[in-house]
Amino acid sequence: MTTRLYYNDSFLYDFDAEVRDVVESPRPAVVLDRTAFYPTSGGQVFDTGWISSGADAKLRVTEVADAEDGRVVHYLEAPLKDTKPGTRVHGQVDAARRRDHMQQHSGQHVLSAAFIRLYNMPTVSFHMADDYCSIDLDTPTLTKEQIESAERLANEIVLENRSVDIRFVTRDEAGKLGLRKLPPTERDELRLIDIRDFDLTACGGTHVSQTGQIASILLRKAEKVRQGWRVEFVAGQRAVSTARRDFTTLTETAALFSAHICDVPQQARKSLEEIRSLRKLREQALEELAAAQAVALLAETPERNGRRFVIRTLSDRELSFVKLLAQKLTRLSLQAVALLGTTSPQPSLVFAQSAGLPFDMGALMKETMTKLGGRGGGSKDMAQGGVPEADGIDAALKAVAATLVT
Ligand SMILES: [Zn+2]
Repeated sequence: MTTRLYYNDSFLYDFDAEVRDVVESPRPAVVLDRTAFYPTSGGQVFDTGWISSGADAKLRVTEVADAEDGRVVHYLEAPLKDTKPGTRVHGQVDAARRRDHMQQHSGQHVLSAAFIRLYNMPTVSFHMADDYCSIDLDTPTLTKEQIESAERLANEIVLENRSVDIRFVTRDEAGKLGLRKLPPTERDELRLIDIRDFDLTACGGTHVSQTGQIASILLRKAEKVRQGWRVEFVAGQRAVSTARRDFTTLTETAALFSAHICDVPQQARKSLEEIRSLRKLREQALEELAAAQAVALLAETPERNGRRFVIRTLSDRELSFVKLLAQKLTRLSLQAVALLGTTSPQPSLVFAQSAGLPFDMGALMKETMTKLGGRGGGSKDMAQGGVPEADGIDAALKAVAATLVT
C-alpha cells in the first residue's frame, strides 16, 4: 500500500519518497512508498507533476492511477535513470492543476449539499472534465429558479469562508453522524470531509481547507438525463475564464448587430423574422419571374409538329428556379417540352413535358447523365440531374432535342 500524503494535507505539493517498484513497459512508471500525487478516482481526475532522483533531471508525471492492490502508480514521460527499489526520489505536484481540481471538487461538495438542503435532491454522480464539471441529481424535475437558488446558496457558503476539515472515523461512528453520502466500500476507517455546519460526507479526494478558496461556483447547462437531471458547473478560476469566454462571444455577437449585449436575443429574433419574411418575398418574386420568363420563352419558340420545344441554358440560376421555370412552361402550354440547363452555381439539367405528351423525361435524363458523367432521374413528365462540368450542357440539350423533334 502506498501512503497517501494528500489524505491529510491537500496543499502538500513537494515530498520525498523511496522507490518501491520500477516499471519499464509498456509505459515507464514508478511506485513509491508514499505520494502526494492524487490518482483518478471518485470523479476527480489525476494530478500531474514531476519526479526526480538525485542524478536525473525532472521527469514529467503524465498520469497517476490506483492499482488494485492499493498502490499508486506514477506514469512517467520516460524511464527514470539508475533507479531501483530503495532509490530516493523527490516528487512535485503541479500546483496549478491541483488547485483547480480542489476548487472543482470542493465546489461540488458545496453544490451537492445546497441541492439537498433546499430541495432534498441527492447527487448520484460527479464528473470532472477538462473544461467543466457536472453532477447528476436524482430528481424528476429541476427548474431554472431551483438552479439559481442552489447557485446562490452555494456561493453564500463560499463567501462565509467556512472551514473544511478532514476527519477519520470508523464505519460505525460514521453511521451515527448523518453523512450526506456513505460509500459502499467495506473499509473500516472512513475519511470524512466536514464543511462546517453545512456538509459532512465521506470522500477520498483533495479539497480546499476553507470554502473561500473555492472562490466562486457558476452553474451552466442543465439537462434531463435518464436517471434525473445533469447540472454542469465550473468553480474557481474556471468560473472566471468561462464567464470571460462567454462575454467575448456575446460581445462579438453584439458587435455584429451594433447592439448592447443585453439586446442580442431581441436583435437575433428580429433578424430571424426578417430573414423569414425576406425568404417568403424572394419565393414570390421568383415565382412571378419564372411565370413571366415562361410566357416570353413560349412566345419566341416556334411550333414544330404542333409542339413547342424550349431549349435554354441559363447561368446564375439555382436548380430550384430552373425546375420552377420548367413547371410554368409545361403548364402554360399543353404542348410544351422544356429542356433546360443551368451552368452555375451547380451545373444541372431539368427536362419536363406537358402532362399527356408521349416522351419519357426520366429515361432521357438517365441516358444524358450516363453521357455526361452525372447523376439524375425522375418521372415521365419531369426529371432532373446534376453534372460535374457546365461545358457539355448546351450540346447535350441540343442532342436530346434532336431525338424528340424528328
Ligand atoms: Zn470530495
